[in-house]
Amino acid sequence: MTTQPPKAAPDAPSDFIRDIVEEDLKSGKHARVVTRFPPEPNGYLHIGHAKSICLNFGIALERGGACHLRFDDTNPVTEEAEYVESIQRDVRWLGFDWKDKLFYASDYFERLYGYAVELVKQGSAYVCDLSPEEMRRDRGDFNRPGKESPFRNRSAQENLDLFGRMRAGEFADGSRTLRAKIDMSSPNMNMRDPVLYRIKKASHHRTGDAWCIYPMYDYAHPLSDAFEGITHSICTTEFEDHRPLYDWAIRSGPAPARPRQIEFARLSLTYTLMSKRKLLELVERGLVSGWDDPRMPTISGMRRRGYTPEAIREFCGRVGVTKFPSLSEKALLEDCIRDDLNRRAPRALAVLKPLKVVIENYPEGRVEELGALNHPEDPSLGTRKVPFCRELYVEADDFREDPPPKFFRLAPGREVRLRYAYYVKCTGVVKDPTTGAVVELRCSYDPATRGGGSPDGRKVKATIHWVSARHAAAATVRLYDHLLGVADPGSIPEGDDFRRHLNPGSLETLTGCLVEPSLAQAGPGGRWQFERQGYFCLDAADSKPGAPVFNRTATLRDTWAKIAKTQG
Ligand code: ATP
Ligand code: MG
Repeated sequence: MTTQPPKAAPDAPSDFIRDIVEEDLKSGKHARVVTRFPPEPNGYLHIGHAKSICLNFGIALERGGACHLRFDDTNPVTEEAEYVESIQRDVRWLGFDWKDKLFYASDYFERLYGYAVELVKQGSAYVCDLSPEEMRRDRGDFNRPGKESPFRNRSAQENLDLFGRMRAGEFADGSRTLRAKIDMSSPNMNMRDPVLYRIKKASHHRTGDAWCIYPMYDYAHPLSDAFEGITHSICTTEFEDHRPLYDWAIRSGPAPARPRQIEFARLSLTYTLMSKRKLLELVERGLVSGWDDPRMPTISGMRRRGYTPEAIREFCGRVGVTKFPSLSEKALLEDCIRDDLNRRAPRALAVLKPLKVVIENYPEGRVEELGALNHPEDPSLGTRKVPFCRELYVEADDFREDPPPKFFRLAPGREVRLRYAYYVKCTGVVKDPTTGAVVELRCSYDPATRGGGSPDGRKVKATIHWVSARHAAAATVRLYDHLLGVADPGSIPEGDDFRRHLNPGSLETLTGCLVEPSLAQAGPGGRWQFERQGYFCLDAADSKPGAPVFNRTATLRDTWAKIAKTQG
């Protein structure tokens, strides 16, 4: 399957952010739109980030503008180079290109410091000696104004001296901060003299030990946007209350541009944990095999699961962009995957739980190569040959010794069609003498039905898949279910151990599966529809020559919706 780039023209209807951008271009406020995607490199990207990426890069692409990739690396303690690399890989894989616009907030440390010195000189910022606890105590709350710091009215000269010494490493972590001098009685808590710089004697993944003071996100972020000439700074709604501070930082000094912050509702998905902190915990405690475990909502996990960038982009378009928080259905994401793979994935035959079949009237030693379509609706995907012989395997679930009323597949005396092959009839069963379990079916075939049709017009009610016992390749197949056992992740109380809500059946590993021989030569990145089973991809990390591992990307239909329907 080849990868399609994102389209420069939106298929999705416009949204309030695209409307604002269009208006600003039309009115001449901006000649060219510049957006950014600003991840903190403290974890792998997840499907929520994909929404932000599709929005920021999508707008730039549609409008002939630019979208910067900027690492918001202002917290030295939690950030790592591994994350920087994974984030770039994931954005590229989604199909987006930042061209030469790759930035790091840490590149601006000197400039941010200089800007802070200007704020100090003009009396807009001061060095405060309160401890974090004292500061919290004096902050007030929604009903009570805060108390001004006793250090608030230090002279600019004294502040300059102290700030310089903070940078020089003279003071201990947490002993002093640089604070904005705004308004301790503001109804917006973010405006009550927020901290701009803190002391943290920690090595940074890029600047090493050059700095022991680090700017706070609320200070570094708006100025980084301004330094880069960002026109529209799109973020999620938890930053709405920070917007006055965002504007304050830009307007209080000689910032070269005035970006506008616009907030949209973050993506939440049913059955999905979406916080990097929780995902990190899953990884660190070994509850998943890594950030790219195919059950993870990370982009790397979805890639390994077999999801396509096209389907993820389609999903982000379908959920749309609004101001109001809502819970999106994971089933919608799965539908997008299914739609894409149904259209493009070649078909193959695979038996997950094999039951042996011996066709008694088929000559021993004979092999026929039967023609099979790679795709029922797309002839351009061509045909292939599948070998047929006397001994086959079918799906154990496709046989019942005592078939219930609506079971039309194999049963003693019952005739069915083998896909692309012949009609076969079950003439007997072989049982394990101790357990009594059926271990083999004896069948006869009708040579006149080659290709799956009967010249006498005789009908069968079921078509089942099969593989040749002599030619099939052994494989391991992994089936996945939701990692989280509850539909609404928001229903798990804060502080409750979310691990108690994990679905213990999220991974089922089937060994001894059999796949048609054409799959034995498959390379990594291969995706197929295993007929009647779902969509599968070859796991690049765990497959070995002669021992392929397939991950189920999606079922054929939304089994959850089906269950909900039968229960409702
Ligand atoms: P998390 O809450 O998962 O830790 P974060 O917001 O701290 O995520 P960042 O690295 O700061 O992660 O996010 C980079 C960008 O992605 C931000 O602009 C943020 O608004 C956006 N983003 C993060 N999560 C979501 C989400 N669920 N839906 C939409 N956008 C998101
Ligand atoms: Mg963040």
